[in-house]
Amino acid sequence: MGKKSTKYIFVTGGVTSSLGKGIISASLGMLLQARGYRVTIQKFDPYINVDPGTLNPYEHGECYVTDDGAETDLDLGHYERFLGVSTSQANNITTGRIYYEVIKKERRGDYLGKTVQVIPHITDEIKQHFYLLSKDVDIIITEIGGCVGDIESWPFIEAVRQSKWDLGLHESLVIHLTLIPYLNAASELKTKPTQHAVKQLLSAGIQPDILVCRSEKNLPVDIRQKVAQFCNVNLQDVIEARDAETIYDVPLLMRKEKLDERVLSKLNLSNNSEPKITAWKDFLGKLKNPIKEVCIALVGKYISLPDAYKSIVEAFTHAGVVNETKVNIKWVSSENLTNKNSVELLGNIDGILVAPGFGERGIEGKIEAAKWAREQQIPFFGICLGLQCAIIEFSRNVLGWKDAHSDEINSKSKHPVISIMKEQKNIKNLGGTMRLGSYTCELKARSKAYECYGTKTITERHRHRFEFNHQFLKEFENNGMKATGINPDTGLVEIMELKGHPWFIGTQFHPELKSRVITPHPLFVTFIQKAHAYKVQKQ
Ligand code: GLN
Repeated sequence: MGKKSTKYIFVTGGVTSSLGKGIISASLGMLLQARGYRVTIQKFDPYINVDPGTLNPYEHGECYVTDDGAETDLDLGHYERFLGVSTSQANNITTGRIYYEVIKKERRGDYLGKTVQVIPHITDEIKQHFYLLSKDVDIIITEIGGCVGDIESWPFIEAVRQSKWDLGLHESLVIHLTLIPYLNAASELKTKPTQHAVKQLLSAGIQPDILVCRSEKNLPVDIRQKVAQFCNVNLQDVIEARDAETIYDVPLLMRKEKLDERVLSKLNLSNNSEPKITAWKDFLGKLKNPIKEVCIALVGKYISLPDAYKSIVEAFTHAGVVNETKVNIKWVSSENLTNKNSVELLGNIDGILVAPGFGERGIEGKIEAAKWAREQQIPFFGICLGLQCAIIEFSRNVLGWKDAHSDEINSKSKHPVISIMKEQKNIKNLGGTMRLGSYTCELKARSKAYECYGTKTITERHRHRFEFNHQFLKEFENNGMKATGINPDTGLVEIMELKGHPWFIGTQFHPELKSRVITPHPLFVTFIQKAHAYKVQKQ
């Protein structure tokens, strides 16, 4: 078991997925942290992939990368943005990971001839991971992915049941997130799905302590009473979670419903002090009352799926708030963008961001977007593949190397301006083998990047296999495309920027992964400033 004084909160879900367990967990975590508790949040996902790194964004949205190089669920991004703390490999566990560990132990002979079974071996392994982070925190919030009743999540739910029992009274609690739908035809809120979802949890041996009820309408007292009575919880433990205007409202809505107070009282923790949430309130005030506005084109291939670029969208929100600027995103499909329609698709925007990505689909559109930004002097921000596309564009249209490309797309080009990293050459397995996580980068003095960060040494997170090909650096620099951020250990180019352009920056790393509500990312903050300046100047 974990450290004695650590308290555990398990968050499960019923009725349907996508009720927002991640946001509720992050909001609760933020409120508890604002009262001085050290909090971490972890997510247990029931699928068999060892991590989401090999999943297509259509399946699972963005893959969030931690400092220590874990490829994780996008909910970890919410945890970091809301709490301002870094998560790690240990904060996201899948069924695949659990079985992988158990099978490794079995092969080593660790189980001493025993039959290896779901109970106790799989559930023990899950419980061990529940407690793993207890050393440095007062409270661990554990979100269980999926819905109670799914075949896949049974071992996790069983492990929650056992943990609740093992830990004893006031040491842990279960919050069940459920749905109270409003039926238009009957003009009524319906509690039956929630009753069934709680029965399902009860049949697994778990009595939820608190019910958080998602609903599009306010829950009147009679509905709350009905839920309380049918589900064996106190009236004040039926918490309303109404659809919010923005996810950043949710902590305050939960505060209003006293979710944090109920949690603290059940865990026998002091709730004497008010949570310190002034900075959060300021953020919300500015978010809702912008005085300026910009329109940024986000050029990517998953435009019908904003979750694929979750952290970028959130980083824009944070950067917009400090600039008191509403950031409107125009989603531009890189597959549709050509030199014939760039005026139509990019003609009236104030900044262009070319998104990260993999593979050939939509690559020419991304290259076209970089060309348009360079030629029209529009603020440009390229992230990972976005930087690589800007480099290819510059090679083709400024340096005149018409066949220039990335090894990833065309390994036969005579100008492989983006090439595979040395360490990546012989890799056969795709899972967890990219250049992942945090690396140091040294910034050149008098660069735009340095102006943004205001410091020489930075660390940023990565997820890629290809890099700028050093062999061509001289030609680039002689023609105004400068490498302004370099990894001091390997010499890898991490940032490039174009001289003689108002703001044209590409990064090999993913700055969006480190933007937080209270500390927005300097590159995004400056990009929005420059986009606004560009807008004013063209008027
Ligand atoms: N596909 C590119 C690479 O592997 C870029 C990756 C990315 O954008 N995250 O280097």
